[in-house]
Amino acid sequence: MAHLSVAKFGGTSVANFDAMTACANIVMADPNTRVVVLSASAGVTNFLVELANGCEKERRDEILAAVRTIQYNIIEKLQQQDEVSAEIDRLLQHIEALAESASLATSAALSDELISHGEMMSTKIFTQLLNERGYPAVWLDVREIVATDNHYGKAAPNDEKTQQQADAILKPLIAEGKIAITQGFIGRDDEGKTTTLGRGGSDYSAALLAEVLNANDVLIWTDVPGIYTTDPRVAPNAKRIDTMSFNEAAEMATFGAKVLHPATLLPAVRSNIPVYVGSSKAPEQGGTWVTRDPQPRPTFRAIALRRNQILLTLSSLSMLHAQGFLANVFAILAKHKISVDVITTSEVSIALTLDKTGSASSGADMLSQALLDELNEYCHVQVEHDLALVAIIGNNLHTQSGVAKQLFQQLEPYNIRLISYGASTNNVCTLVKSSDADDIVRSLHQGLFE
Ligand code: ASP
Ligand code: MG
Repeated sequence: MAHLSVAKFGGTSVANFDAMTACANIVMADPNTRVVVLSASAGVTNFLVELANGCEKERRDEILAAVRTIQYNIIEKLQQQDEVSAEIDRLLQHIEALAESASLATSAALSDELISHGEMMSTKIFTQLLNERGYPAVWLDVREIVATDNHYGKAAPNDEKTQQQADAILKPLIAEGKIAITQGFIGRDDEGKTTTLGRGGSDYSAALLAEVLNANDVLIWTDVPGIYTTDPRVAPNAKRIDTMSFNEAAEMATFGAKVLHPATLLPAVRSNIPVYVGSSKAPEQGGTWVTRDPQPRPTFRAIALRRNQILLTLSSLSMLHAQGFLANVFAILAKHKISVDVITTSEVSIALTLDKTGSASSGADMLSQALLDELNEYCHVQVEHDLALVAIIGNNLHTQSGVAKQLFQQLEPYNIRLISYGASTNNVCTLVKSSDADDIVRSLHQGLFE
């Protein structure tokens, strides 16, 4: 079978007419790209989330007008506008009706239905753009392919059903020579209701589709030409990484690098599908390939920064010589759907970090009062804010001598609130004051990479 690529374009890549045109050029220049997954045009999902959370009529009208403007600024530059503008008007009317319902009573299912409209609109417009250029693009409702559970806001795909639907609907389309233009981020549950995979979920959708299609690679087109040794906005000397491993990329994403959604890698890793990250605005600049076993594997690969961290310190005298304390604490956290990132323990206490806000589509606070109440019944809870995680990503970090020395040398002037070293071969994690974070990243970058 011919080489098959699934391409995904992020929100900034489809933000306006020129950006979308650049994407169209990339798609048309690459005959291997047979499935195209899009995010909503930049800004649209945020607006829709605001509507989904319920707002007054005046604000609703303002948002609708803003969303309309974003989409119409693109449509107005198309050659044939009638059909696509009718579609967009119809979708805008849905948004308006759903937003009114949400202002009366919000629900998770309603939110997902509403928020899904961003991707519906961007894909309609992009399909028209390609068709005008004579490219055999067809719009596909991804909900007919991606089946999920009903955990609205962060739904999990049903892999088996997704595979069946891809076999029945998507594969024949590709076999006919069509290029499928479809939505990231959304799916459908068994009841036929729209679901979303969580903010930034379009990458996940692309990897998932690549997996069920047995694709050769996933091309993630975004606004940066690849993955860097650290965020170039923080450390201007950051360099692009040409190839890196899934593990390294997963650590980077988990610890704050914005380029790849952590879950993107799940379907790609388990099916060993290489992932490319490049800039849709400057494809000629090249990008980063993420693969299972790239060579070489340097000790230090990158530095990731994740802001907005909360530190919970849980202590209990009953932990002394006792069994089951950790199990109970984790049971409570699991019940509240909190995933713990970094943890250290002592005889009578454990310290763990949480994101201030979760990744569910609604952006709700992770540290809910309900969680605190439940923990408080069980142990003493101390909460600290304004912290950031700085993670040093690399290879065989825990088996090489001298790693700690190199890091601590750079970290010397700063207070390190917590450090986690030894659990992962791919990272060393430190928790620091938010106000020190940028300086720490710069000084680590200089010491390890420059
Ligand atoms: N449009 C969605 C979001 O903004 C999904 C995505 O862009 O990946 O989160
Ligand atoms: Mg995005």
